[in-house]
Amino acid sequence: MANGKIGVTTENIFPVIKKFLYSDHEIFLRELVSNAVDATQKIRTLASFGEFKGDLGTLDVHVDIDKEKGTLTVTDRGIGMDAADVDKYINQIAFSGAEEFLQKYKDTANNIIGHFGLGFYSAFMVSKKVEIRSLSYKEGAKGVIWTCDGSPEYTMDECDKTERGTSITLYIDDESKEFLEQSRIDTLLKKYCRFLPVPVISGKQQEWKDGKMVDTDKDNVVNATEPLWTKKPADLTDDDYLKFYHELMPAQDDPMFWIHLNVDYPFTLTGILYFPKIKNEFDVRKDRIQLYSNQVYVTDQVEGVVPEFMTLMQGVIDSPDIPLNVSRSYLQADTAVKKISGYISKKVAEKLDSMFKADRKSFEEKWDDIKVFIEYGMLTDDKFFESAKKFYLLKDVNDKYFTLDEYHTLVEGEQKDKDGRLVYLYATDKTAQHSYIQAAEDKGYSVLLLDGQLEPHMVGLLEQKLDGVSFVRVDSDTPEKLIRKTDDKGSGLTADQTEVMTILFKSQIPDVDKAQFMVGFESISADAAPATVTQNEFMRRMKDMAAMQPGMSFYGDMPASYSFTVNTDQPAVKSIVEKAEKEIGPKSYQILNEIASLNDEIAKASKEAQDKKESVPDMKEQNDKIADLRADLDKEVSAYAAGLPKVKQIIDLALLQSGLLKGASLSEFIKRTVNLL
Ligand code: ADP
Repeated sequence: MANGKIGVTTENIFPVIKKFLYSDHEIFLRELVSNAVDATQKIRTLASFGEFKGDLGTLDVHVDIDKEKGTLTVTDRGIGMDAADVDKYINQIAFSGAEEFLQKYKDTANNIIGHFGLGFYSAFMVSKKVEIRSLSYKEGAKGVIWTCDGSPEYTMDECDKTERGTSITLYIDDESKEFLEQSRIDTLLKKYCRFLPVPVISGKQQEWKDGKMVDTDKDNVVNATEPLWTKKPADLTDDDYLKFYHELMPAQDDPMFWIHLNVDYPFTLTGILYFPKIKNEFDVRKDRIQLYSNQVYVTDQVEGVVPEFMTLMQGVIDSPDIPLNVSRSYLQADTAVKKISGYISKKVAEKLDSMFKADRKSFEEKWDDIKVFIEYGMLTDDKFFESAKKFYLLKDVNDKYFTLDEYHTLVEGEQKDKDGRLVYLYATDKTAQHSYIQAAEDKGYSVLLLDGQLEPHMVGLLEQKLDGVSFVRVDSDTPEKLIRKTDDKGSGLTADQTEVMTILFKSQIPDVDKAQFMVGFESISADAAPATVTQNEFMRRMKDMAAMQPGMSFYGDMPASYSFTVNTDQPAVKSIVEKAEKEIGPKSYQILNEIASLNDEIAKASKEAQDKKESVPDMKEQNDKIADLRADLDKEVSAYAAGLPKVKQIIDLALLQSGLLKGASLSEFIKRTVNLL
């Protein structure tokens, strides 16, 4: 019988283990089962090298609960330990400077455990006493029993264990009784041990009998010892992948496709990543990739560990280079993990590229569903953008797909503006923007459909990355001006005519919620629409962005400003201009003349004052008069316009085309149209 004190640091270790690992008590089970599995793997290896010649026997690991005794026991038939081993591996857990180390890192005790081989000691998080019984595989070895009640003193003795291997018994403490419930242990084993390479047995299989679940006499094996990712892709069928997916992610639709990762240089990594179909934002969950280290579950909190865009994917990644037992922040900072992340991103790009090259048609068919992954990747990962630009597809409103290069070639001829910039026209809603799309296509332009969630961001990114390309939405200007090929033709109206006609049209535009209109005139062509409503590309993007980002509500709350462009070449408009010229022209121009001469007076007075270095007179009388005259003009022209149903008709048609004619205004339009008939 030997008594002793464990290592040098235990007085510090136990409180640290008990206290700081509080939130993660359950990991003790993972630690003990992993140790048992490791010991089992070792005896297998020794046997395969001929260093162990005895009978291996069944190599299962057992996790048994004895509720009466209040114990939980993990038993393996691995290499076992003799007294010297226990002394070396269990008693001398000390490492030089450990005490100092613990002091320094006591807040991140999670990182210490496991990192310095303290996994076994996590048993003390839930136990008042721990007992090891072990028999080494070595010839002539004697059984050893070691007990410790959590104080630094332990006892060690010989025992009559006859079966090779180790059994570790935890006398569960009063606060941890939950770990004596089979259902709790089942849950934990499912979480941490589901894919361990050695069969882990706990409890019995159950069956439905006489109205309740009862134990059968069959052992309950909790794990699949050869999970799919450890197998060769060539040996697997699509069904295998789908079956595994549904085991991993119950209650999900079939994924679109998957990538089987398999690498052994410069680090070892295997895994399977599935691309789920993302139908809406509720499908976006970031805990659907599980990290394993040699088939031991580590975490499903992978943000910062895998590239951000991949958090949309689902599946497993297994690498012995992923450290067990470390907190997520530690995992993110780990250089091996960082390399893994870059590598996975590269692999995903390669796979997509080969899919694109192998079968473009089927790639196009999948495109609408997978683009959200690819766009997310391109937006958040510069390296991924570089690889993805070869297979990134633009879709036009007629469902044709183009690579970036192909599209460039397609529109290069027709869609350069007068400054040599290439303009990519796009729509975001085929139905709502139908007439704008039509008008652009009539001019021989191609129109892209960018209706995905991330595409407003893609527009900005592509403008940044593609030299000399601007994106313009089809409804952001009149068709003629979407791509400005020449300087403005003007409107053919005099300044006075423009003033009067502006009032004439503006006064008849109905109130539209959160919208304001800037009326302008332009000679477009006789057969184009009499008027069009467009929204400036820049303003619209600001508002769109604001809608997506909190904190930019300033733009979001601003009324949307639309251009209301009247086509002075259109016959109906022409006749309105001519009629108004005759009927209210003389009177209006007289008012405008008066305003002009008052303005002259003001300008003259202010110039004289400046010349004499005197202060500028306020000219209140003239200013008041101008205001009155403007009000008169407004009243005069508005009253006149109110009697012109054609003006209203032109306005309503333009609003209707852009989806802005609603409610009472729409009813009135219908009534007026019927009357005109
Ligand atoms: P780690 O497993 O990280 O090395 P542990 O504290 O869990 O740290 O275990 C320390 C050592 O004790 C192991 O490396 C192993 O040599 C030995 N050991 C623990 N459990 C067993 C077991 N069930 N069978 C054989 N050896 C074991």
